[in-house]
Amino acid sequence: MSNWPLRPETIAAHALRAIDVATGAISPPIYLATTYARDENYEPKLKENYQRGGSPTVWQAEEAIAALEQGAECQLFASGMAAITTLFETIPQGAHVVALAVMYYGTLNWLKRLEAKGRITLSLVTPEGVAAAVIPGKTDLVWIETPVNPTWDVIDIKAAADAAHGTGAILAVDATATGAVTTLPLTLGADIVFHSATKYLNGHSDVLAGALIAREANTRWAEVKSLRTKLGSPLPPFESWLLMRGLRTLFVRYRQCSANALAIAIHFENHPKIERVLYPGLASHPEHDLARRQMRDGFGGMLSLLVKGGLEDARRVCTRLKVIVPATSLGGVESLAEHRKTVEGASSPLPDNLIRFSIGIESVEDLIADIEQSLD
Ligand code: PLP
Repeated sequence: MSNWPLRPETIAAHALRAIDVATGAISPPIYLATTYARDENYEPKLKENYQRGGSPTVWQAEEAIAALEQGAECQLFASGMAAITTLFETIPQGAHVVALAVMYYGTLNWLKRLEAKGRITLSLVTPEGVAAAVIPGKTDLVWIETPVNPTWDVIDIKAAADAAHGTGAILAVDATATGAVTTLPLTLGADIVFHSATKYLNGHSDVLAGALIAREANTRWAEVKSLRTKLGSPLPPFESWLLMRGLRTLFVRYRQCSANALAIAIHFENHPKIERVLYPGLASHPEHDLARRQMRDGFGGMLSLLVKGGLEDARRVCTRLKVIVPATSLGGVESLAEHRKTVEGASSPLPDNLIRFSIGIESVEDLIADIEQSLD
């Protein structure tokens, strides 16, 4: 190992290395065992002796992700939603939560469900309204997403952390769209960072996974860990191994997705068939200055196009694409397009004409030609 602190590109590229001390294999074995023998003092040989509490291949993936996010520890879950709902389980009964009124709809719906059941009180706010919504002595959790799915607004993490900490609340950041490449929320004051590792961290649309990373291994974090074991939702070993394999190419993938998305955003910004392009890398984006400060290595591969026309027109554009796949999810090497209003339903606050694009690593000329022909 090096005697200097490794840079994130190196940590990611070596994500699968160094576990198999016995053989030196560059790609280590997968520890599939659900149970591990105790030692002669009847103690677990490792930290845990039953897979529901954690196991070697999962720990290796967790260590790589914790290092990338500069956190104290990471816990991997069987999906992003399993991670989110476990963290929400630690909110004290009746406490107040601040979150964004427009963000990933699965998280939003779960918070609304908790409110309807009387578990929490909830303030849903605009990106500018986060700090003002925090109630001293009552707010337990401020949950933000940046960039916000699927409007790609950028939220000021440091300002949100200051507001939360000023009143004793914690700040958790869904940083899925940053891919742990452009923004490190824990270094800006966040207490917990979350990734749907299904997306950029894995990057190949073949693993469902969620990650929570803590700045400090405190009592709240101990509760998260204990709940994951009790609820039985750790990421299984095979998926952990695949996730590490995906991590090895994270930086090259993410940078190519970002470069492609920026070129597409610029190409369609003043297009006669496009009403608006939502992408934080455009100089015309309302939070472009904040994005430039907070996102240090590209603006990511996610953008939304508001087409001229209504719901049917937007849906038709998706079905006419020939290279970009009309499918949900994001962060893979292949480009995907989705009409969010169809997926979220009539109660969704999103415009009828919004199409979300997850831009992959293909030739950007092919992607632009594909969107052009679908708009024709
Ligand atoms: N957060 C964001 C921003 C997402 O896009 C998603 C999934 O699309 C999730 C959370 C939920 O993650 P998962 O689908 O891995 O459960």
